[in-house]
Amino acid sequence: MKWCYTCNSKQSNDALFCLNCGSSFEARFCPRLHQNPATAQYCGFCGSPDLSRPHKRPRNFRILAIAAVAILTVCASILLVYILVSLGWYFIIAPPQTMLT
Ligand SMILES: [Zn+2]
Ligand SMILES: [Zn+2]
Repeated sequence: MKWCYTCNSKQSNDALFCLNCGSSFEARFCPRLHQNPATAQYCGFCGSPDLSRPHKRPRNFRILAIAAVAILTVCASILLVYILVSLGWYFIIAPPQTMLT
């Protein structure tokens, strides 16, 4: 089964277009059904600008994952600073008193 992300419907595996909203899947098709990459602006075979619109891929999940990793990194670094402060991190960053002695 193929999944149309534009209208969230299941489509049969051999379908070129979504029966529900007319989106093509991982490709764009010109009126002569030449297959082009989803990023194509013109048909690479006949030059037609009249390409089908591909379904919207779910990019939100990737953005959410990147945001979650970024938030976790910030939280981890804040936690690390707290741990270093509680341990007395002036011992780690070359304390001047011990440098003199
Ligand atoms: Zn659809
Ligand atoms: Zn074409």
